[in-house]
Amino acid sequence: MKKVTAYIRSRKAAEPEPFCAHLYDLQSIQAHVADRVATLPAPCRLFYAIKANSDLPILQALLPHVHGFEVASLGEVRKVRAVSQEVPILFGGPGKTDEEIHGAIEHRVTLLHVESLHELRRAAYIAEQRGVTLPILLRVNLRGPLPSATLAMAGRPTQFGIDEARIPEAIQLAQSLPALDLQGFHLHSLSNNLDATAHVELVAYYCRRVREWAEAYGVHVRYLNAGGGIGVNYAALDEQFDWGSFVGALGPMLEREALPDMTVFFECGRYLTAHGGWYAVEVLDIKQNHGKTYAIVRGGTHQFRLPVSWQHSHPFQVLSMERWDYPFARTEITDTPITVVGQLCTPKDVLATDITVPRLRIGDVIVFQYTGAYGWAISHHDFLSHPHADLVYLDGTEEL
Ligand SMILES: *Cc1c(COP(=O)(O)O)cnc(C)c1O
Repeated sequence: MKKVTAYIRSRKAAEPEPFCAHLYDLQSIQAHVADRVATLPAPCRLFYAIKANSDLPILQALLPHVHGFEVASLGEVRKVRAVSQEVPILFGGPGKTDEEIHGAIEHRVTLLHVESLHELRRAAYIAEQRGVTLPILLRVNLRGPLPSATLAMAGRPTQFGIDEARIPEAIQLAQSLPALDLQGFHLHSLSNNLDATAHVELVAYYCRRVREWAEAYGVHVRYLNAGGGIGVNYAALDEQFDWGSFVGALGPMLEREALPDMTVFFECGRYLTAHGGWYAVEVLDIKQNHGKTYAIVRGGTHQFRLPVSWQHSHPFQVLSMERWDYPFARTEITDTPITVVGQLCTPKDVLATDITVPRLRIGDVIVFQYTGAYGWAISHHDFLSHPHADLVYLDGTEEL
């Protein structure tokens, strides 16, 4: 945050334009991820799910630290191959086209996560045409019950994976197709889980399921992909997922429950990059309407869609700025609940609602925290054709 503040202040000292940027602290992201990789138990590997933030500098920063990248489109495969020809890639996602399966083979994807019986047949057909054997995992949509989470991808009807009830059929089909090499299972089932104990239980549940299939159908399970879904607590930033207790319990659990010589993958998105991003926007106007106070900022949900998508007030801090270029008085409020909105012509363009701030002036900068994942990446940048936010990657070499 200190680096971010210094950057904003120096930019505002130099330029009058309203400040509007997504800022990323690459060193902080690297340190966080390096620590997570170093503390994982031996049979585990950590991948980065790039849809959370697939900007090139982020991928480059993570490349030396993660085991590989998880992707869900040919475009994402190409982004990863642009930073490394060799790094392992896991390719999942529903609705893969033939072109994407060909692309997976051409770009030497490590494992294809197959999401349906039709996709299984198509993958085999394409691999056979090309004279290759394609290593795959079957993506399973478990019947549950699963530990609770914000977004559930399995344990209920969704478009993801193969219904657990049809896994025996899928295994037998995969085994009958010589162009496919079934190497295990993929079980990404939830998102934004904040409970470390529940997450260990979830992986234990996966291990038991996978053992049953291995034993019943003679599958040599080399990989269990336990998915992503480790959460970020936007409601209380100093109470985050307890990684220490997670890895502390994960090791002994895997010794009891994992199949011998099985590697366990985690493919986290949000948990790896969220904390290292800030969305900083200057207050353009402050006004009262029908008794409510609005702070209107340079930017909005077209640049940071996460709060509307999740229907939450995104956490922020106010950065006081001294610059004031007008010859008339500056509007200021104190100890007032504010609703922070953007420049879009829709009442849904809200970033935070009724948050009391000690002091806010037009020209101050509101700095949203934990915006490094699913921020800019999921936003509809060109709606209303305002200029894009600057994307600033702080790597410690800036002259401030
Ligand atoms: C989105 C996604 C992830 C990453 O999810 P997070 O909640 O950001 O950790 C991992 N695996 C798959 C298959 C996904 O679709």
